[in-house]
Amino acid sequence: MNTLELQNLSKSYSNGTLALNSINLKISNGMFGLLGPNGAGKSSLMRTIASLQEPSQGKVLFNKKSVSDHPDFLRASLGYLPQEFGVFPKLSAKELLNHIAILKGIGNKHERTQQIDFLLNQTNLYSERNKAVSTYSGGMKQRFGIAQALLGNPQLIIVDEPTAGLDPEERNRFLNLLSEVGENRIVILSTHLVDDVQELCAQMAILFKGKLFAQGNPQILVEKLKGKIWSKRIEKSELKKFSENHKVLSKRLNAGQTWIRVFSEFPLEGEFIPEKPQLEDFYFYTLQINS
Ligand code: ADP
Repeated sequence: MNTLELQNLSKSYSNGTLALNSINLKISNGMFGLLGPNGAGKSSLMRTIASLQEPSQGKVLFNKKSVSDHPDFLRASLGYLPQEFGVFPKLSAKELLNHIAILKGIGNKHERTQQIDFLLNQTNLYSERNKAVSTYSGGMKQRFGIAQALLGNPQLIIVDEPTAGLDPEERNRFLNLLSEVGENRIVILSTHLVDDVQELCAQMAILFKGKLFAQGNPQILVEKLKGKIWSKRIEKSELKKFSENHKVLSKRLNAGQTWIRVFSEFPLEGEFIPEKPQLEDFYFYTLQINS
């Protein structure tokens, strides 16, 4: 069983931005969802865990070893899919994977070929293996990103906002692939999409303004809002009034009608419908009470 532990981790940049503020977290094998809005500090956290940047304070421990003291120990077991994969050279997937495998120190040619073929199959890219990666669609590039991250069988995989810009079918395919990959190692999925976490992750935390809130199993976290979520159809013009008098978590258009979802400890007068709480409600609730 692998463990990743963050102890009192903070990161400030030279311009004074405090991107991470005393983060404490302990996770083990499986899919961990790190959910937060843009600017919350997700990429800062991913880069710090991946030892691409030093924390200003605190520690990252992977399998009980400090990453600052033993960066090579972590790097040898890390697969990282950054938010921006950068420029793709005009190499085929097979050639590029071969290069990356050599960089990762997989020196044995037979072993390399075996791993590459296995990963091309797993990511469903085998039939396209001889095409230049630069010509791949967005979804194929993301799957390629996972294939390269998996070279060398890393025990810690970090994926930063991987489903942004994928169409629903590609997104599904990608999420299925990730959950397969997450069975016997730690996978950290950073995302601003509640659905990604809901569908995949047994453990999660919400990152907001550099701080961690609400850590645990999504279903158990959501239970806290049981009996406290209400919805109501309103006129668009009434939104301001309702926002002033209620904790409106979200508003949604449905077939031309405006619906709001509201948090309230007590039943509300006036045609509010009781709703089963969803992870999205919990997410918006957490952001609101910590704003
Ligand atoms: P997220 O990935 O959740 O969108 P980021 O980690 O990218 O969040 O950013 C968190 C905060 O840190 C933002 O205010 C952002 O502007 C700032 N930030 C990120 N990277 C840098 C950097 N290299 N230098 C200065 N500020 C940065």
